[in-house]
Amino acid sequence: MHGFRLWSRICPATGREGYVPVAFVFTGKTAAQRESRMGRLEQAARRYFAGTPYPWAGFTAVDYHQAVPVVVTELERITADPARAAGRVWRRLGREEWQTLSEALDNPDGERLYRMEEEQSRRRQAKRKAAEREAQRPVCTRCGTKFTDERWQSVIQTSWRSTGDTLCGPCWKEDVDRAEAERAARREAEEAAAREAAEADAKKGRGLFGRRR
Ligand SMILES: [Zn+2]
Repeated sequence: MHGFRLWSRICPATGREGYVPVAFVFTGKTAAQRESRMGRLEQAARRYFAGTPYPWAGFTAVDYHQAVPVVVTELERITADPARAAGRVWRRLGREEWQTLSEALDNPDGERLYRMEEEQSRRRQAKRKAAEREAQRPVCTRCGTKFTDERWQSVIQTSWRSTGDTLCGPCWKEDVDRAEAERAARREAEEAAAREAAEADAKKGRGLFGRRR
């Protein structure tokens, strides 16, 4: 496209710079000749109007920010259409179908598709991360139950390691309760023994002074 000045502008939707669309209206000669001239323009202008693929795997969206949207039509097509230039009389170079001007200038496979694919990619990544995390979730060495998030978190957060770390919440609680009960029983037994010893001492004392009940 020699001899054409390309104007750029800031896209109000994305805030990015883009090129102002260019329209070509063909006329005269036969329909076949007009068709062939549009085809030649399409060939010659391809590097201006073609978008570039996003360089990320899994994206089919096309980046049109550096592309010039080029539409073509024929005067004969416009005059034959009841809606005139508002009808489906425009063809965006790079596409097959005839569209309204706004359809032809729209990029359904551009920014919009890109946002969707980006969101899908984000979801896939989150899903994979969750699966990876799930695979790491510890299993209780006693009962085989998977740790709850809460139990897992508390084991990670504790700065000292203990044998109870390999147990799920309920099993760990069971051990703690049992240890506590054993301590209490031991304390009770010690107190009882001390009491008995004191009583025995008192009895001995009484025996010494020869007093009896
Ligand atoms: Zn358990």
